[in-house]
Amino acid sequence: MTPDPPLLDVRDLRTYFLTDSGDVRAVDGISFSMSKGERLGVVGESGSGKSVTAASIMGLIEPPGSVVGGQIRFRGQDLLRLSEREMQKIRGREIAIIFQDPMTALDPVFTVGSQLTETLRIHRGMSRQEARTVAIDTLADVHIPSPEKRFKDYPHQFSGGMRQRVVIAMALLCDPALLIADEPTTALDVTSQAQVMDLMLGLADDRGTAVMLITHDLGVVAGFCENVQVMYAGEIIERGPAGQLYANPEHPYTRGLLESVPRLDDDSQTKLYSIRGVAPSMIQPPRGCRFWPRCDYATDKCVSERPRSCCGDSPKECACHFAGQFNLETDRAGV
Ligand code: SF4
Repeated sequence: MTPDPPLLDVRDLRTYFLTDSGDVRAVDGISFSMSKGERLGVVGESGSGKSVTAASIMGLIEPPGSVVGGQIRFRGQDLLRLSEREMQKIRGREIAIIFQDPMTALDPVFTVGSQLTETLRIHRGMSRQEARTVAIDTLADVHIPSPEKRFKDYPHQFSGGMRQRVVIAMALLCDPALLIADEPTTALDVTSQAQVMDLMLGLADDRGTAVMLITHDLGVVAGFCENVQVMYAGEIIERGPAGQLYANPEHPYTRGLLESVPRLDDDSQTKLYSIRGVAPSMIQPPRGCRFWPRCDYATDKCVSERPRSCCGDSPKECACHFAGQFNLETDRAGV
């Protein structure tokens, strides 16, 4: 039996920001795919290219940014070839996005109810009454108390956690096949974070929605994603099934991210690891491995030769010359 084609298939995507100082290569030749209902965690520091990848998929890159190469196939159709009008039919209806700050997704001058019903009327052609019923049911699904009453409230009348629930309701209204959640809980307090994450992923599961969860925190994706890919300096540097990647990280950067997450089962009182240095300039990234100036294991080969990239054809990949060859516990040295 032939396997189902991927829901999303990104090939050699390049998104650059064309500035007076030079081209900022925010996303620089990444390839990956997602199947229906899959949960993929995309992890990396700020500036690694995670959010630009999301914006490229949604067709939300604005000048001076530009997708300069590659393909983004969604259900077999290359999104990069669609007009803005065609993209508007896909955005929100088939692919939805949740941003970090709920106020960027909600219009402060309209009630929550009118924003939800508007979405249903535009994307699903519902009558005003039908849309009202579905919107109130969806507010109830995301555990907004007294949904009929809150339907008439404005975004500023909700707490941060409740606002993000409204945004989740809005994102799931049209039953999208793919939900991109870009740091969806970073702006919330710790208690609300766990509740909102559970809620979002529970609802996505019920509906068979694939979820791309973007975060800087490997700890956040641990319990939620089947697969994880780690981005650094515009590239995917490691990917794999979550269990394998957490148990056996092969890239020193992934290892560093994991070591910097506090663990409840570790009472050793040792200082958390921090990756030295800062992310490189993406106008002129280092030759060779882009991580070498910060890597505790770098050799001369790393400075001069670029490691083979993760091209997306194998379930577990690592873009390091020495993947699996050294002991990350004991071999730290560096050039
Ligand atoms: Fe470190 Fe070299 Fe591997 Fe890059 S290729 S991660 S510099 S050991």
